Amino acid sequence: MDIGPAAVKTMLRLNTSAADLSRAADILKGGGLVAFPTETVYGLGAGGFNPRALARVFDAKGRPRFDPLIIHIAGIEGLERVARLEALSAPRRGMLMDLIRAFWPGPLTLVLPKRPELPGLATAGLSSVAVRFPSHPVARKLIALSTGAVAAPSANPFGRLSPTRADHVAEGLGNKIDCLIDGGPCSIGIESTVLSLAETGEEPPRLLRPGGTSREALEALIGPLAAGTEKTEGTPESPGMLKSHYAPEIPLVLHRPEEMSVLPRNADEGFLFSSGAARNAWLRGPGSSGGTEGPGGTGGPQKPPADSGILALSESGSVLEAAANLFESLHRLDRLKLRLIRAELLPEEGLGAAVNDRLRRASLRD
Ligand code: AMP
Ligand code: MG
Repeated sequence: MDIGPAAVKTMLRLNTSAADLSRAADILKGGGLVAFPTETVYGLGAGGFNPRALARVFDAKGRPRFDPLIIHIAGIEGLERVARLEALSAPRRGMLMDLIRAFWPGPLTLVLPKRPELPGLATAGLSSVAVRFPSHPVARKLIALSTGAVAAPSANPFGRLSPTRADHVAEGLGNKIDCLIDGGPCSIGIESTVLSLAETGEEPPRLLRPGGTSREALEALIGPLAAGTEKTEGTPESPGMLKSHYAPEIPLVLHRPEEMSVLPRNADEGFLFSSGAARNAWLRGPGSSGGTEGPGGTGGPQKPPADSGILALSESGSVLEAAANLFESLHRLDRLKLRLIRAELLPEEGLGAAVNDRLRRASLRD
């Protein structure tokens, strides 16, 4: 870890024992910043009702103050402390209850009318609040033991790749936060879906950010969703929709499978394939597989070593595994000092849409 001179903090690194979690909860209650694992990515937690702690989150991340935080709760009581459910129409409230029953705890963030008691800093001055009930047992325990409402954006410097392992947090924010709980790699690995129920009009709920809960699963339960419109200038409707976000240091170029399969191999370029089959077909050379994913087969090429810069998001082609490996793979390629990273897009459905969304943002430069 890089220990610079002034304004440097010593970060306490803890594990997930009961004693460590109660220590971390005390730090949160005292206004400190604690990074903790969730099923999506690591969060940088601060007491949701503590304006000083909230201000420190923005400073530590270098996050613009117009970018609101997600409040993490550990039970339905927490929801009522931060959101005005009574402000919703009866059909909207019914929809909310259906969503909660089906998807909480889990990777779905719901945007709802905000309670005035919650500091405006948490929501960047918006009259709505984003709330999530994570399923990760460590996150749930920490939230319950501390303030019951923990504001937690992803634990990375603003605009950089999201952290899916404790070491990613230590590298990015190690000297700016008080404590890091190492709970191992995140199982979902991609941020939560953000769905807004806050509008009072007749239009359907709006999908503000694709993520760990698929659009298809939401629509099967509550019907068609409206899309959040991507804004290119001014304050975005949902700042997670800022175009350049989640970016590696090295330029990233995206390819459809048919383009990816015929790219020449360059030693100063990294290659991120969607599946082991796609990578193997490419390693065998153009024309050998017609670009379709075979069963892996026998006599295929050797899996390249991890530091070769040739990676597959999932050996088996599982989209769940691809999402879980996305940020770790980009972090890894980023460290190899390559000139360029080339990544293959996934089919645009289910979690694949969320993976492609993160890849597209990562490929855009400010
Ligand atoms: P992060 O915590 O880094 O995953 O980012 C949280 C994201 O949630 C923000 O960047 C927004 O996109 C979204 N968000 C949080 N609060 C609101 C809100 N009140 N209205 C709309 N989107 C929100
Ligand atoms: Mg983030």
